[in-house]
Amino acid sequence: MAVPDVLSALDPEQREVAAALSGPVCVIAGAGTGKTRAITHRIAHGVLAGAFDPRRVLAVTFTTRAAGEMRGRLRSLGVEGVQARTFHSAALRQARYFWPQVTGADLPQIAERKLSIVGAAANRCRVGTDRAVLRDLASEIEWAKVSNVRPEQYPLASMNAHREVAGVDAETVARVYAAYEDLKTDRGVIDMEDILLAAVGLLDANPGVAEAVRAQYHHFVVDEYQDVSPLQQRLLDLWLGDRDDICVVGDPAQTIYSFAGARPGYLLDFAQRHPSARTVRLFRDYRSTPQVVNVANAVLRSARRDSKGVVLEAQRPPGPEAVFIEHPDEVAEAEWVAGEIGRLMTAGVPAREIAVLFRVNAQSENYEQALSDAGVAYVVRGAERFFDRAEVRQAAMLLRGAARAGDTGGEAGDAAAATAAVLASVGWSAKPPAGGGAARERWESLAAVIALAEDVVAAKPDAVLADVSAELDARAAAQHVPVADGVTLASLHAAKGLEWDAVFVVGVHEGTLPLNYAETPDQIEEERRLLYVGVTRAREHLSVTWSQARQPGGRGSRKPSRFLDGIRPGGGRTVPSSRPSRAAARKSRSMARCRGCGTALVDAASRKLGRCGECPSAVDVALFERLREWRLERAQEQKVPAYVVFTDATLTVLAETKPTDEAALSAVPGVGQSKLERYGPDVLAMCRAADDDAADTVPEQLDEKVAKK
Ligand code: ATP
Ligand code: MG
Repeated sequence: MAVPDVLSALDPEQREVAAALSGPVCVIAGAGTGKTRAITHRIAHGVLAGAFDPRRVLAVTFTTRAAGEMRGRLRSLGVEGVQARTFHSAALRQARYFWPQVTGADLPQIAERKLSIVGAAANRCRVGTDRAVLRDLASEIEWAKVSNVRPEQYPLASMNAHREVAGVDAETVARVYAAYEDLKTDRGVIDMEDILLAAVGLLDANPGVAEAVRAQYHHFVVDEYQDVSPLQQRLLDLWLGDRDDICVVGDPAQTIYSFAGARPGYLLDFAQRHPSARTVRLFRDYRSTPQVVNVANAVLRSARRDSKGVVLEAQRPPGPEAVFIEHPDEVAEAEWVAGEIGRLMTAGVPAREIAVLFRVNAQSENYEQALSDAGVAYVVRGAERFFDRAEVRQAAMLLRGAARAGDTGGEAGDAAAATAAVLASVGWSAKPPAGGGAARERWESLAAVIALAEDVVAAKPDAVLADVSAELDARAAAQHVPVADGVTLASLHAAKGLEWDAVFVVGVHEGTLPLNYAETPDQIEEERRLLYVGVTRAREHLSVTWSQARQPGGRGSRKPSRFLDGIRPGGGRTVPSSRPSRAAARKSRSMARCRGCGTALVDAASRKLGRCGECPSAVDVALFERLREWRLERAQEQKVPAYVVFTDATLTVLAETKPTDEAALSAVPGVGQSKLERYGPDVLAMCRAADDDAADTVPEQLDEKVAKK
């Protein structure tokens, strides 16, 4: 690519960044304004114009994915040889190289099972913990280390930073932290933070090392600079020495990791620390429609100054209006979202271009269920599917055991209370743990299991634990269809840096966003920025939803998030609570009866078939085979696995009941609105044709094979 081409692909401000090849440059820019584009073009321009030797350029960022993205973009601009790395990988390379020179020994191994060392440290301090608390302790130690806080400084520092670790006081955290450091030394291993500390130590204490590194790298670029921690900043300062050929890029409004040690202050104060710095603001948003951009700007309007970022100007043509909708409860909310997703897919938006984003991972359960019900494939990003999570599997196992033993947890007569009593044995309590970490996520998962039990009781007041356990197992089975491609379900944290055509930001009510653990102004601001990150992931379709109650029929006392004040038009459209919700559907499902003999169906397989194991089936084999062939063609056409079109269970019911009109077809399990629209005409035509032919009966084996799927 000729030199002028690199610059001509940029807008005036981006060009200013790319053309400023020396001296400190600070880019403060909003989401989707081409930050990464501006710095990759700057490097390309520098290299192609002969001002940079590519081997003397170090570009750093925070995730392996982002570093890879940067390398890819540089390659496509025709630039080879530039180091684009994460802070960790750059530090590791330097530490591995210089450690032996300074100490005469190899850099210690990186601990493979860090959590077990934290566990041993907790044991040594006589702190009883479960895995979630261990994860929170490990995160807390990471925070302390990247914040340059030593164990003896921890109690004061954590108080000043309003830190809380579920159920563990600051003095104890400090003792576990100290024991953890000792144990690592005893075992001769280091952790990820030690790599940064080692690099800093080597550069700081050995002028020869510092000189060698500075001779290697002359030009520094940092993407996502709002995420830099004090320890990383220290390393960056050591790399630079007294030079100032550095370009940093960031968006203060996208700081969502300050709980982990990110300090956007370094970005905001850059010009003070480097008085000769050129500061450029990028404000043209190339990602989203004006409708989405309006919402993004509005979210920041009442933000505190340090989270304000820049006011975005949309560059794309207009699209649909953003939608704000209140729902009576979370089940109805998820059901509505699934319906909208079906509509979008029918209109041609591919599933992988659609995302549902939420605050805590436990919120995914309702969406996993609603999408499964609608027959829409999904992937859970950054977390396991709800029923695969350790605490949920454990809860299901305990409930199964208690149900078999006829145990009521001492709460005869109320299966929901009995469920809570059983879960109390693994540490469930009605009050959530302090802090917003892994212990909180675990609590939310268990709360979702209890909510599910309350659902079962609402549908069937005389339900017993066995019903709750059966419902859990049935759902786990129905949702257990891993796919490679589908609608994305992700937490707002896991969505950072990604984009989709359609985004649903859900659960935007007080208590969830902001999450009720957020109390200090800093914590509240971080929650607001999470909403900003969520909203700015959408290219075209944006829906923001919340619900008045957690449970169907629950007290609708929840308020929409304060962050939506002045944003939702006319207070937001409310879906009337009289609208039939999935609670009703679930009720009828819980009462599912065999088509043959009318007995209640309890296990998942027979519910899917709508027939008990005793009754003979009347599957039209020829129709079943025709449906299968048709399904294969559709699946190949759409490049999806066959079950994404219809599962075997659905085909069996179709071949058995032969629906001939839309109403009958939509009553078949697995035929949601979107499938009805997409496949209805084909399926009805096949069923009608088969209805005219003589019916045949399927051998029992085929039926069993299907039921096991
Ligand atoms: P984020 O805040 O999510 O990190 P960003 O500011 O780094 O976003 P980029 O990823 O660089 O933004 O750009 C967003 C999208 O806009 C990309 O698809 C990019 O190619 C496009 N884009 C950026 N600048 C321009 C431009 N001047 N002309 C056309 N497209 C552009
Ligand atoms: Mg970027």
